[in-house]
Order: sequence, then C-alpha cells, then structure tokens
Amino acid sequence: MSRNITLTMIKPDAVSKGYTGKIIDHFITNGFKIIAMKKLKLSDTKARSFYAVHKERPFFEDLIKFMTEGPVVAAVLEKENAVESFRETIGATNPADAAEGTVRKLYAENIERNAVHGSDSDENANIEAHFFFSDIEFC
Ligand code: ADP
Ligand code: MG
Repeated sequence: MSRNITLTMIKPDAVSKGYTGKIIDHFITNGFKIIAMKKLKLSDTKARSFYAVHKERPFFEDLIKFMTEGPVVAAVLEKENAVESFRETIGATNPADAAEGTVRKLYAENIERNAVHGSDSDENANIEAHFFFSDIEFC
C-alpha cells in the first residue's frame, strides 16, 4: 500500500527568522507524521527545476532569488488525505487571504515570502518527495 504523503519546505524567510521548530510543531499537532526531513540550500539550478511549472510567470526570477537566499527545511509528511489536509494547515498562498491559525497567517511575510511550500496533488507530492529524498530516507 503506498503512503499518503505531501512534500513541504520551510522556506528561507521562516528558517532565517527562527520559526523552524514552531512550524514543525504545528505540522505534528495537526496530525502529520514526519517520514523524511533535511535542511539544505537550494542551488539556482535545483530551484529552477523545482519551480519549472512557474517559469513563464512574472514572479519567477524573484521566486528563484528568494528560494536560494538561505537554507530551507524539506520534509515528507504523512497523513490521511495528506495533500489537501496540508494545504488547509498552511493556508492560502497570500498570507493576507490565509485563514486564522494557519501557518502562513502566523508566520508568512507576503505572497512571495510565504513561509512554507505544500504539494498541490498526490502525483506532484510523489515527484517532489523524490526530488529531495531517496527511497532509503523514507522511514
Ligand atoms: P502555492 O505555494 O500556494 O502552491 P503557487 O504554486 O501558485 O502557490 O506559487 C508558488 C510560489 O510562488 C508561492 O508559494 C510564492 O512563494 C510564489 N508566488 C506565487 N504567486 C506569487 C505572486 N503573485 N507574486 C510573488 N510570488 C508569488
Ligand atoms: Mg504550488
């Protein structure tokens, strides 16, 4: 049986402000189990590859600059209905629109520097999880 997972990154804004622990605790409190986790700095090439789907968008170059300015914490999280449930936990892309108590409402600066990533489908969760982690790191 394949696990129901999502891929998250705690983004450079939140890591640099010392929110990593609080955000991980928020995930756990909301029922997510940590399957794999690491801190790393994305290279320009890796960031462009991860966000390739957005390469024609006007914010793409700024997004790459932001995502490579400092370390991120990447993690694979498991929960029933993981992708949808996690997007509820993190809130809307723009923290100004995010519901009270969501990670982005609590910790994000603005629509770009929005504290966390969450996968948008089961298919992409699987692709993104393997972007950061090899099979032996899933446990
Ligand atoms: P989400 O992360 O909620 O899935 P998207 O996939 O649409 O959002 O966008 C990816 C990331 O690009 C966002 O999390 C945010 O960091 C950045 N972004 C999205 N829209 C904008 C925008 N209008 N202006 C600046 N940055 C943006
Ligand atoms: Mg997205």
